[in-house]
Amino acid sequence: NKKDIATITNTNHIIKKYNFHLKKSFGQNFLVDLNILKNIVSSADITEETGVIEIGPGIGALTEQLAKKAKKVVAYEIDQRLIPILDETLQPYNNIIIINEDILKANVNKMIEEEFNGYEDIAVVANLPYYITTPILMGLIEKNLPINRYCVMMQKEVAKRLSGGPNTKEYNSLTIAVNYYTIPKIVLTVPKTVFIPKPNVDSAVVRLDKREEPAVKVNDESFFFKVVRGSFIQRRKTIYNNLKQSLKGVLTTDDIKTALKAVDIKENARGESLTIEQFAKLSNEFIKYVT
Ligand code: SAM
Repeated sequence: NKKDIATITNTNHIIKKYNFHLKKSFGQNFLVDLNILKNIVSSADITEETGVIEIGPGIGALTEQLAKKAKKVVAYEIDQRLIPILDETLQPYNNIIIINEDILKANVNKMIEEEFNGYEDIAVVANLPYYITTPILMGLIEKNLPINRYCVMMQKEVAKRLSGGPNTKEYNSLTIAVNYYTIPKIVLTVPKTVFIPKPNVDSAVVRLDKREEPAVKVNDESFFFKVVRGSFIQRRKTIYNNLKQSLKGVLTTDDIKTALKAVDIKENARGESLTIEQFAKLSNEFIKYVT
């Protein structure tokens, strides 16, 4: 459609009309490819029952495609300069709410209660500001909000991290944290050429489906994540050496050795070789020694 925001001509026209200077520090790279946008929306399985939360609408390229399929779209945009622009570009749609707020500071729970009351299907769909991909995702996922799935574009390297398994070079504590709460899958890889301006890195769209129950059973969630993070503090070090340092004052070196042995993990193994199940076992074992 000629009128869609996400063409090169229309995007350039809007930027020029408002004399808008894109801010690198806000991660502003606008999508100008309708096919990719439609692909994102269809990968997210948006229906007329779905309430969508968008992060960073920019000039509204994705927001518009979402509004055509969803019941309602609530979009958080930090950059105040974009608000009057969005007012105009999204004027034809009556199911969009723009909130001029930093997503990292927003009370999303309260917003969901107010805007998505009675909705049975809520999805987050976004072309994320890449500089804060991890805090945005972890912030939302950990809060246990009634969000069924996420379909979000991010840097390809981070996407591989989320979806990678043990013994891959991207596997780390973020992989474990995301997999604890969700099932992640790369649904689309996206070249640099479909953005204005072109980013330095390739991108990918990841769909994360929230699990009904966490992937593993742990006796103490925050301790589990402490063990996971503590096992990756220095990638080339063994799990024993990393944990000796990160659990200092919590467990003695003898306890760490005994627990590793009890769950069949070698002292010289590396964090990147452990499955999420092994981390769960280890953390449940460690708990026995914590006084
Ligand atoms: N959705 C648009 C698109 O696909 O063309 C723009 C995506 S652009 C990669 C990221 C957007 O997130 C920008 O509009 C930026 O201003 C916004 N943003 C950056 N940090 C934010 C934050 N902390 N909270 C909300 N929005 C933010």
